[in-house]
Amino acid sequence: MPPIPSETPEPAVADAILDWFSQHRRDLPWRRTYEPYHVWISEIMLQQTQMERGVAYFTRWMERFPDVASLAAAHEDEVMKLWEGLGYYSRARNLHRAARMVHELHGGCLPDTVEGLQALPGVGPYTARAVASIAFGRDVCVIDANVERVASRLYDIEAPVKSRQAREEIERRCAALLPPGRARDFNQALMEFGSLVCSPRNPACAACPVAAWCRARALGVQESRPVTAKAQPPIYLTMATGVLVHDGRVLAQKRMADDIWANLWEFPGGIVEEGETPPLAVIREYMEETGLTVNHPVPIGSFRHSYTRYRVTLHAFSVTLLSDPSELVLSAAQEHRWATWSQIKSLAFPAGHRQLVRHLDGDETFLAGVRP
Ligand code: SF4
Repeated sequence: MPPIPSETPEPAVADAILDWFSQHRRDLPWRRTYEPYHVWISEIMLQQTQMERGVAYFTRWMERFPDVASLAAAHEDEVMKLWEGLGYYSRARNLHRAARMVHELHGGCLPDTVEGLQALPGVGPYTARAVASIAFGRDVCVIDANVERVASRLYDIEAPVKSRQAREEIERRCAALLPPGRARDFNQALMEFGSLVCSPRNPACAACPVAAWCRARALGVQESRPVTAKAQPPIYLTMATGVLVHDGRVLAQKRMADDIWANLWEFPGGIVEEGETPPLAVIREYMEETGLTVNHPVPIGSFRHSYTRYRVTLHAFSVTLLSDPSELVLSAAQEHRWATWSQIKSLAFPAGHRQLVRHLDGDETFLAGVRP
């Protein structure tokens, strides 16, 4: 077992991590110019998103919204469509609102302080610090899950990582490590090091440039750091939805603004209640949500997806309209459309419905019955 380090020389640790970063940093699009708008968008996109996926979405986003002005001027449906598939849709709605605020109140330039950034919708302490340091070089620490893990191991922090005690210690340790004037590189270095070397499982300790100062490694407990709370068990949901075609157009409704998946589109439907079958749930949901009577549900397929703790199975049916379409009255949505298929494909749907749209897009029989 290596000797347990009695102290951590901050400048040496910071230098070793910065050296490692200068040799191994990934070439990411927002790192080419550190344009504040790019850094901001990347920080919001990368929350809960894998890097490769984040880069693909970022590239597509910049082609359509290259600056604050173009994002501020966009229609929300287009913003949501570009975000479709990334999840946590409040991030896209907040980006849009924040871009309008920056455009109107700050002449299109992002505020350059933590406080100014935090006044924007959707910008919390983490994002404000990340943008302030990476885009504007402010000397503040940025603590994400990677940094929490590196600090918990380097200093063998035994308190649960989300506890106040651990948070305060991590902040204090990181502030001591931060070399003045190097916040842009150092914060990115620490996060990247946590992601690529000091990874959650099988950290690459043998190749680690700070191994000599790592207390968890010396004690052989690196795999048990950080200490985390027990994971909550998953919640299983069964849902049903119906695709209604009338006169060649497909009925879609836009979810309420204060709802989960707010402002996304969907086909009417909902949770299958206890003792109910999915086809009966579709008929009931149509009546409750639209006032329309539908019948003869014909199975299309079942689609599975997860969000947070939820594991959802969505049973999809095509349904037949029995009432007059003019009887439609929405009770669970803010607007509806009788849409052509290309219009349906231009709308943003949550995960299960998106899989359904993709499935229908390959179904020649279905497509023959709808307007392109
Ligand atoms: S020695 Fe291992 S556990 Fe410690 S910081 Fe390096 S990679 Fe992480």
